[in-house]
Amino acid sequence: MRPLLLMVFWLGLGGGNIRAASAPGIPPSATIRNLNQLHEVKASGVLLDWNTGRVLGTTGEERASAPGSILKPLLLSYALQQHIVSASTQVYCRRTLHVAGRELACSHPDDRPLLNAEDALAESCNTWFAELARRMSPQDIPAALRRFGLAQSSSHLNDPEQRILTVLGLENISTTPMQLAVAYRALLLHEARTSAVWTGLRNSVNWGMAHDAHLPNIEVLGKTGTASNPGEWRTHGWFAGGVPGRYVVVVYVPRGDGGTAATLAGAVLRKEMQEDGR
Ligand SMILES: [Zn+2]
Repeated sequence: MRPLLLMVFWLGLGGGNIRAASAPGIPPSATIRNLNQLHEVKASGVLLDWNTGRVLGTTGEERASAPGSILKPLLLSYALQQHIVSASTQVYCRRTLHVAGRELACSHPDDRPLLNAEDALAESCNTWFAELARRMSPQDIPAALRRFGLAQSSSHLNDPEQRILTVLGLENISTTPMQLAVAYRALLLHEARTSAVWTGLRNSVNWGMAHDAHLPNIEVLGKTGTASNPGEWRTHGWFAGGVPGRYVVVVYVPRGDGGTAATLAGAVLRKEMQEDGR
């Protein structure tokens, strides 16, 4: 057993049934490749070729779940393009946030309370993105999601609190690993390397909330998410991101958090890059 798997089992994330990949549209020739290590911990994963979008591998269930914070860069990309916010829009974060009776406190450090767009993405600041949601109209959110092939499930977006919960990926939307992989590839191909979204996703891995996916001497972009589905108390974890020019990867951990998903995604990407001789 690899050290990574030992660590994950130590975290108590085992359990559940293993199923073969069942995502629609996956060619039968798709190999599991290094996603095998996700299989062992009941996680799901999708690996795409960055350039062609070809499915290089899948494992686990193609289950739809609340995306949590991995929705943030998709909505930010749309909001920047529509001039709803700018890259320099600053929001003061007190790290506490209450929406519709829910506690949505930020978990980032409190050393820099004034955040711009790229820092808010790297730190996954709920307060900044709640402000973004307040500035978005009820029509903006479905338009932003549609751009990336996603859709919300609620028609209550006239309610500002529901808009915040949707932007934070906690209510009114659920996504599968394959949907997010396709969405993230579209996002990453769209963004310039100097954009707030690109820089935020790079900093997220370099020193922010997705640091567990960091690899030495390899540029990795990515975002984590931790959420629970309606009626469930357990959280699940997401990582979505990739290595520019090489791979787009999404990892879903059915019991756990975004940090665990980022650790697994980093391990998958490291092995892929090693086997490519890079
Ligand atoms: Zn914050």
